[in-house]
Amino acid sequence: MDKVLTHYTKTPRKEVYNISMPNLVKVVFDIPINESFDYISEDKKVKIGSRVRVSFGNATRIGVIIDIIPADSKPKTYKIKKIDELIDEVPVLTKEMFKTCKWASSYYHHPIGQVIFSAMTPLHRKQRKEPTSKLEIQHNESFDELILNAEQKKIYDSLINDKKKFKVNVIRGVTGSGKTELYIKLAKKCIKEHCQILIMVPEINLIPQTLERFKKYLKIIPLQYHSNLTPTQKHKVWEACSKEEQIIVIGTRSSIFLPFKKLGLIVVDEEHDSSYKQTEMFKYNARDIGILRGHNFKCPVILGSATPSFETVRNIKIGKYQEYRLEKRYYKSKLPMITIIDSSIDRPNEGLTNTLIRSMKIELEKNRKVILFLGRRGFSNSVICTNCKTILKCPKCGTNMTYHKNVEKLICHNCDFKQNIEQVKKCCDNPVLTPLGIGTQRVENRVKQLFPNKTVLRVDSDNITSKKDLEDFIEKANNNKIDIFIGTQMIVKGHDFKDIALVGILNIDAGLYSTDFRGLEKTAQLITQVSGRTGRQTEHGNVLIQTHNPDHSILKTILKEGYEKFSHIALEQRKNVNLPPYSHIGIIVLSSNNMNFSKSVLNKLKEIKRNKSIFIYGPAQSKVPKRNNQYNYQLLIGSNSSKLLSEHISKFEIYLSSLNKKIKWHIDIDPLES
Ligand code: ADP
Ligand code: ZN
Repeated sequence: MDKVLTHYTKTPRKEVYNISMPNLVKVVFDIPINESFDYISEDKKVKIGSRVRVSFGNATRIGVIIDIIPADSKPKTYKIKKIDELIDEVPVLTKEMFKTCKWASSYYHHPIGQVIFSAMTPLHRKQRKEPTSKLEIQHNESFDELILNAEQKKIYDSLINDKKKFKVNVIRGVTGSGKTELYIKLAKKCIKEHCQILIMVPEINLIPQTLERFKKYLKIIPLQYHSNLTPTQKHKVWEACSKEEQIIVIGTRSSIFLPFKKLGLIVVDEEHDSSYKQTEMFKYNARDIGILRGHNFKCPVILGSATPSFETVRNIKIGKYQEYRLEKRYYKSKLPMITIIDSSIDRPNEGLTNTLIRSMKIELEKNRKVILFLGRRGFSNSVICTNCKTILKCPKCGTNMTYHKNVEKLICHNCDFKQNIEQVKKCCDNPVLTPLGIGTQRVENRVKQLFPNKTVLRVDSDNITSKKDLEDFIEKANNNKIDIFIGTQMIVKGHDFKDIALVGILNIDAGLYSTDFRGLEKTAQLITQVSGRTGRQTEHGNVLIQTHNPDHSILKTILKEGYEKFSHIALEQRKNVNLPPYSHIGIIVLSSNNMNFSKSVLNKLKEIKRNKSIFIYGPAQSKVPKRNNQYNYQLLIGSNSSKLLSEHISKFEIYLSSLNKKIKWHIDIDPLES
């Protein structure tokens, strides 16, 4: 039956290729319009997924063919342009890639042209033939044998004996349990079977160390793929994926769009990490597309984390994903002792309580290392005029400005607008500007005063901006050159530092009382992950958490019973309010220069007839209330069925397209922040 069907659907295509009359080809471009454009081609070699050069408006553009129809099947009521040139005789997009792009475009409600172009490299949209030399896959002369411990081996055995071809496996492994070595062993097996392997990590700065660990045990040296590569470097990796049989790619989220031809394994390490979600333009989640591609290639997908996302926890619960556990740390070190400091009693001075300073002294005297974590870069959160009590806001987007002492500037962390202190508009006759709240720079100042003989490194996106900064940071960290690290999220992610005896979490309260429904989930992940940085190879470490809310019940659950128990309790709460993972949601954000107009349009959308299972919240101000004098309002739309949600959002799009062009909107499906 299957065969007949395939044959049947393919036949018309064949006819298209064989006829001598011209074809009508539908072409998409890298533009934010969800439409294809018709051209005529007399070239019989046109294929879906090939690039063409065509005139578009007053210019020539590179587009990609997404469909081919015999020309005469469409009444010729207008003149259709001919394509100027067929660039690829062999389609640049494989069938599988094309399928993935089509799915992503419809699921994320993003224009197919932009999706397709984001699955290619910058060189694909510029030149005719890419004159790049081929990338030689490098091989190791010698490599170590990798011997798994009993826990790792047990999982390895059951994974390789699993007869199911496509399956999502979750490795829930405590920090330091050796998930990476398990991935390496699986990759080895895969290479033997002549398959390609994709290993995704959430941050560029995790690629070098992951690469090193793979190199140690493998003959084939993995390739890296991330946004810091030059267009040519990207292009070479891209080409290699479409040609080489044996290849391992270690990459960040964009690597999920590489044109693999025979994937045998996809690993999404630290799957809970929000970096897998792109928040600008095409708002996809690389973890979820990874699962789709695993399905396409009929290969296993591995999600690794010490703190799985609630989506994943639920999928384990309902039996969709299979869970494996690594409960022990590889180097028999114990998990850290966590202590809470009540900041209302022991009041922090410049971010640090006396208890924390005392513990730092003890460890530093023994030449052991300390990490201080806080969520905010810059000097202070915000700046207040203590005379008139005005908080300085970004003139562009309305977010509180952050004070950066080293450059004497106010910087908006939302839209990156920068202002010198002198440029600040006078709020009153006698302004007295005072920094409020604590940022990494302010803590750095204080720590340097307290411990003048110790080396301090600030790890945040202001201080670590280039590849070289990053390599320096990792080199120094690995070679014991730093005594005290002060950092934001950047320091949390999977780094394997030696001899961290103490971790101080300076303020957890913003996370505990976040307005975002994922606030607690993220805070719990953060506490567990930051704590995991300590005592990895040696004696056990200590974690001190400063909070004004030592009795917060969820905080207590996380600390006493761990992340897993917490996740089950917090999931029950999600269920009660029917938020993800118990429902699917999307956000539609409308921008216009007239606040009331935005709101009234969104209210109109709410009137569109809808299925009973669709729920809508809003209109509400967006997280970014204003940008470039445009007001942003949003609706949150949800449903228990992702299909219904998608259909409904399509209706909204149709309505919005029929309106005045002055409004802009974007859609975010499965948003990580609402
Ligand atoms: P996780 O990623 O689970 O937090 P890691 O992968 O960082 O844990 O592993 C912790 C440490 O144990 C690393 O230094 C790693 O090199 C080491 N390790 C884990 N498994 C093995 C193994 N089978 N052989 C040698 N070293 C291992
Ligand atoms: Zn003032």
